[in-house]
Amino acid sequence: MFTIGCHLSSTGGFLAMGECAISLGANTFQFFTRNPRGSRAKPVDPADAEALINLMKENRFGTILAHAPYTINPCSKTERTREFARETMADDLLRMESLPGNFYNFHPGSHTGQGIDAGIEEIADTLNCILSEEQHTTVLLETMAGKGTEIGSRFEELAAIIDRVKLKNHVGICMDTCHVSDAGYDIIHHLDDVLDEFDSVIGLGRLKALHLNDSKNPPGSHKDRHEKIGRGAIGQEAFRRIINHETLRDLPCFLETPNELPGYAEEIRMLREMREEQGAK
Ligand code: FE
Ligand code: FE
Ligand code: ZN
Repeated sequence: MFTIGCHLSSTGGFLAMGECAISLGANTFQFFTRNPRGSRAKPVDPADAEALINLMKENRFGTILAHAPYTINPCSKTERTREFARETMADDLLRMESLPGNFYNFHPGSHTGQGIDAGIEEIADTLNCILSEEQHTTVLLETMAGKGTEIGSRFEELAAIIDRVKLKNHVGICMDTCHVSDAGYDIIHHLDDVLDEFDSVIGLGRLKALHLNDSKNPPGSHKDRHEKIGRGAIGQEAFRRIINHETLRDLPCFLETPNELPGYAEEIRMLREMREEQGAK
């Protein structure tokens, strides 16, 4: 099944997002767990969560993805900032239990000068603190562009974090196409090689979701500026290969392109058209 959706605003609640996704031709969606300033999140309305679960079943949705606020930083050099990230993520995971079996994605963070190794330890500490055996959510580390002191632009860094996590079966990776390209992995001309490298460093079994974004900048630019699908450096043909690749085609895909809802509907329609039958070449 091709599972494709986009980022949606969560202001109307869970059911409203599910209905919006359907209106766009999507069968999944992504949302922020709270506003990016990371302030207090609205309490979960159990009836609303239940209604979304039913709608997802009836419409055969794939896994949905909750995105942590991108302003939290689990590996800041400032202790209070790290604590805040931990509290926010722990609270988000608690709330995600009302939508069991889905994904919670976060940016590993920026080490803000203390160095990559220290950052990796702190990110792993955070995960060891917030993960519990009973949780029904898989926490995903997002591949990053390597802007500033960002950690997670190299597969080795993500592998080193997961290595230090105790409950490894609760963690995975979300690969952002704009970010990996900006990080210098050539998914435009050498997708197979990049996936082989991912497999040998992290293991493809950990790859759980894709963020589909074109990039305003050339590979290796470390910029992180998303572009509409086919309008950027990655280009439409590379996306055709990505969404049809045998190791990627069953992963849920989430658009975070610069679009309003009609633009998202159009991209989803275009990607569905680009999708080939299994085994077709
Ligand atoms: Fe992200
Ligand atoms: Fe992303
Ligand atoms: Zn980005």
